[in-house]
Amino acid sequence: MKIIMLGAPGAGKGTQAKRIADRFEIPHISTGDIFRENIKNETQLGLKAKGYMDQGLLVPDELVLELIMDRFKAPDCKKGYVLDGFPRTIPQAKALDDALNKNNDRIEFAINVDVADEVIIKRMAGRRACLNCGRTYHVDTLKPKVSGQCDYCNTELVLRDDDKPETVKKRLQVYHEQTQPLIDYYNNKGILHSVDGTGEIDDIYKQIINVLMT
Ligand code: AMP
Repeated sequence: MKIIMLGAPGAGKGTQAKRIADRFEIPHISTGDIFRENIKNETQLGLKAKGYMDQGLLVPDELVLELIMDRFKAPDCKKGYVLDGFPRTIPQAKALDDALNKNNDRIEFAINVDVADEVIIKRMAGRRACLNCGRTYHVDTLKPKVSGQCDYCNTELVLRDDDKPETVKKRLQVYHEQTQPLIDYYNNKGILHSVDGTGEIDDIYKQIINVLMT
């Protein structure tokens, strides 16, 4: 099963993507997580990506495509995957289609998690991330078991630089300009499904499962 998660930064697509990946036993591929991992490990790729990410800008398509095409070669992708944060531009979506077409393959579902900008700005200010394993929490709605500490690896949780309010506003602007057109792109292919992303995490998950199981 090959699934794309669409939605603005902070819409909650990462949280849902992880659950879907667990449910269908397929990898959750987050390009943002891969970049953050590279930044942490101070790789060449990380160094190149950091400047863009800290400003709330998109990393250039060539860099993202190189990274993702390499990831697809891993054996765990044979059963499918949930893509979170990729594609983020029309050229990325077309490159993905081309790569899949070569193998007579295609994306089956594009799930759009729909949340208004004002809600997102409020949410992101309360979001806390584990820079070790990539999991995210929220000071009000998704608290870790021990305050300020990741449930899975005990790492201290932080407000990511790119979740700071001024960066979030820039990321939303970039989202509307460059990523939102993908909603029409996948709608035209007949595989777009929008879910309301403002309710409880469990309810949103149920809506998505309904889409994927019917
Ligand atoms: P995310 O965690 O998905 O919100 O990604 C964090 C940041 O990583 C984004 O704001 C971009 O700077 C960069 N990034 C992640 N995925 C992509 C992508 N597909 N295309 C361009 N930049 C990306």
